[in-house]
Amino acid sequence: MSDVRIVAKAMDDIADDWHWVLLRDAQELEPRLYYAQQVGTGCGLLISSTPQHVRLFDMGAPSEPTCPPCLESGGGAVMREAEAVAALA
Ligand SMILES: [Zn+2]
Repeated sequence: MSDVRIVAKAMDDIADDWHWVLLRDAQELEPRLYYAQQVGTGCGLLISSTPQHVRLFDMGAPSEPTCPPCLESGGGAVMREAEAVAALA
């Protein structure tokens, strides 16, 4: 299992920023359907601390987040954030 990083919204809110959403220890069950141990964002939001299915929808996501902390976090920092998120659970 590995981590999957996608550009997505943390909430079903049209006004919400696009974030790096991290699916921790995600397993791809079928195209666009994952089982993830934990879900959070690059800027530190914890979306789910319990394992759950995550289905990806094509919401017209840009190639990069619009959330400034997510954008600044880049790859390595995102991993550190994800580890910090994991430590919270
Ligand atoms: Zn963010």
